[in-house]
Amino acid sequence: MAAITGQQFLDRLRKNPPTLYIDGQRVEDPTTHPATRNMAHSLAGLYDLQHDPALRDKLTYEEGGERYPMSLMVPRTKEDLARIGEAHRIRANSSLGFLGRAPDYMNANVMAAGMGAEYFARCEVEGDHQPDFAGNMRRYYEYVRDHDLCLTHALTNPQVNRAKLASELPDPYIALGIVEERDDGVVLRGARMMATLPIADELLVFPSTVLKENADKSRYAMGFAIPTNAPGLSFQCREPFDVGRDPEDHPLSSRFDEQDAFVIFDDVLVPWERVFLLYDVNLANGAYAATDAVLHMAYQVVNLKVAKTEAFLGTAQSIVNAIGSGGFQHVQSKVAEIIIMLEIMKALEVAAVAGATVNEYGVMTPARGPLDAARNYYPAVYARLPELLQLLGASGIIMMPSKADREGPLGPQIQKYLQAGNASAEDRLKLFRLAWDMSMSSFGGRQSLYEKFFFGDPVRMHSALYEVYDKGPYVERIRAFLNRSAKPEGVAADD
Ligand SMILES: Cc1cc2nc3c(=O)[nH]c(=O)nc-3n(C[C@H](O)[C@H](O)[C@H](O)COP(=O)(O)OP(=O)(O)OC[C@H]3O[C@@H](n4cnc5c(N)ncnc54)[C@H](O)[C@@H]3O)c2cc1C
Repeated sequence: MAAITGQQFLDRLRKNPPTLYIDGQRVEDPTTHPATRNMAHSLAGLYDLQHDPALRDKLTYEEGGERYPMSLMVPRTKEDLARIGEAHRIRANSSLGFLGRAPDYMNANVMAAGMGAEYFARCEVEGDHQPDFAGNMRRYYEYVRDHDLCLTHALTNPQVNRAKLASELPDPYIALGIVEERDDGVVLRGARMMATLPIADELLVFPSTVLKENADKSRYAMGFAIPTNAPGLSFQCREPFDVGRDPEDHPLSSRFDEQDAFVIFDDVLVPWERVFLLYDVNLANGAYAATDAVLHMAYQVVNLKVAKTEAFLGTAQSIVNAIGSGGFQHVQSKVAEIIIMLEIMKALEVAAVAGATVNEYGVMTPARGPLDAARNYYPAVYARLPELLQLLGASGIIMMPSKADREGPLGPQIQKYLQAGNASAEDRLKLFRLAWDMSMSSFGGRQSLYEKFFFGDPVRMHSALYEVYDKGPYVERIRAFLNRSAKPEGVAADD
């Protein structure tokens, strides 16, 4: 089937709806439910882009007479990586970078894991069931590619008590754990804290980097994939941000509320062919790094964040143009701050490709240093972007009569008093409503939280960077400098 259309995505979702709950009600059809239908159609729009004649060659690649999504292509050269990066940016631009978990992100994960499948062969289990973990991982990549699936994922256990191990919580199955092995698969019980984009075809529980257990073997170590409508699996969604407003009034939240869900496993059976790893804590913790999945995902992320920062820059400058504030020095300085962030992220993307090398699985892999810098830098600076919009827009970002107001009895006054220096009130209000949705609405607030945590806890990410970064050469340079003779060479100490 390969690269699907938006209609095919919607038909599949309607036929196999994930088990979603919103406000105490089961979502029977996410393509029509008021809280999810607009997001479902935005995703469909992303799939349709693949078939746009102007973009087809940029968003898909050809293999064996079929076309597949570019984000599932195995890069063999730096040119391949650059093509994948361009596809990420084109897709990201369609949501101004505000869709954090477009399918491209998980596609990068399964591509790298599929190519690094031999890693999973190291996982040994005792007993009668001897699954082909490596084959399962490889075939899962092909399955995702051949059906152009949309994936969500859930890595962290519930936030009950972070001072305790999963095995020390009041119930052994608060954290997701293995209950039993059966001839037809593994039974799992417990919960996972967060899965963004639950209106997906499948849930991937990739072996997590954050598992803390004392033993080498643990019932909490696992990797697998299942359909989002698997029996016993439920997604408890957060309060929706798409509240049915006109896209002119809520330009982002009415289109890109990707949702976040708490994931409950009530004795869910995962067939053996969908299991990639079991029990092995060290292998689970090492899977992202050893397969380089983390780098391919980070490469999608850096491209996405370039698109998002460009959207902030365009919005900020449009506000400045609208209210005529561009001559003030501090206003210029604030826009310059965004330019600097953008250029840093663009440079890190370029450096990731320039320094790419072929990994042990034959995959051209972007350089770790720039990507680690990007995924630690952006969460630290992101909060300044919405703040800058607020500082530039001031009262304009709150005094925004709606489309209905503009069409109501005060319409003529609104047209007069809320016009921009360079545009009508209608255009000015559309712009300021976008700035509000980027920086102040519930949707904008969730974006700020998302940017801080979506790749993991920033505190522990910094520690991880500290651990892996080779600081040795620089320490050695300082040692050599300190030991260098104080006198120029050839000059005796008593001269
Ligand atoms: C909007 C949003 C969307 C997300 N989407 C997804 C998703 O799609 N899939 C997914 O798997 N995850 C997702 N996440 C979860 C994300 O991976 C986690 O938020 C992140 O890993 C941090 O874990 P936590 O939220 O459980 O925080 P916690 O681990 O509970 O941390 C809470 C606080 O305690 C501190 N803390 C806790 N433990 C330690 C420790 N050992 N050492 C030092 N400090 C500690 C942290 O620094 C932090 O200040 C999402 C998160 C957000 C906010």
